[in-house]
Amino acid sequence: MMASLVGAAAPFLALLVGCSSFSFLRSTPKEKPTPKVAREAPAHEDSEPARLPSRFQVRVAPVLFLSDYQLHPDLPLFSELADLRDQIQKDLALPPATETVKVYLFETEKQYRSYLRTEYPELYKLGRRAFFIAQPRPGGEDLLVFTYDSKRIRQDLRHELTHALLHGVIKEVPQWLDEGLAEYYEQPPGQNGVNPEHVQRLRADLASGRARLSLPRLEKLTQVDDMKPPEYRESWAWAHLMLRGKPEARAVLLAYLQQLRGAKHPGPLAPRLEKVYSAPDEALTAHLARLEAELSRQQADAR
Ligand SMILES: [Zn+2]
Repeated sequence: MMASLVGAAAPFLALLVGCSSFSFLRSTPKEKPTPKVAREAPAHEDSEPARLPSRFQVRVAPVLFLSDYQLHPDLPLFSELADLRDQIQKDLALPPATETVKVYLFETEKQYRSYLRTEYPELYKLGRRAFFIAQPRPGGEDLLVFTYDSKRIRQDLRHELTHALLHGVIKEVPQWLDEGLAEYYEQPPGQNGVNPEHVQRLRADLASGRARLSLPRLEKLTQVDDMKPPEYRESWAWAHLMLRGKPEARAVLLAYLQQLRGAKHPGPLAPRLEKVYSAPDEALTAHLARLEAELSRQQADAR
């Protein structure tokens, strides 16, 4: 996950995500609040051992949301996430994800962090707002997402559920591609996967020489720690180029995903993309310039 959304893109995103997501998962005030008596030991809450939320459940197959605060199945977020599931399957020509994904929605950041600190100290140290993990168990693995009710929950859920849904049908998604697709699909519907902040940062960093585009370099990164914000941005950009550039590039990506489902790892993707774009880095630079021009036009129209 990206740590922050700042700068010129923020007002644009605020319009699309903004305040409406703040209470995405909450009852509106006029609805009946959860009775306090339902809690077993409110006085000792702070000293309770960290545990997983479980009292309320909503299923959006194959995803099961669990929380200790009331979830309303008819919240727009849930139908949006069902659309996301269908869109990923259709865009990427993947079979339906059927493996259950459990999404644990903690009520507060404190509860979330306290649980992670106890159960997943390594994840806790990374300090992120949301995680997806595939946890081995006898006979398979559990697909789990942990997060809490924050202002960014919509984007965080879209991001982590992309990981989970991909993982349900492809066991080994290369790290750059996993993050690139998650960054693409975390964008709200209607935005065509465009992350305005990524576009602006990449354009600025390319102009100043701080960034250099290289898919072969990204493909060599295998450790979680290798992925820093610049790597997330660049992974997003390659995913966007393949999904929104030439149809042949999309075909390369889709064929590659199918091969990743097989028993034998298909090796790097970059050489295949070179058959579509003789100079992929230049093609991506031009793609980003087009996206920037489009964003400027949209901003001008909105004024
Ligand atoms: Zn991610």
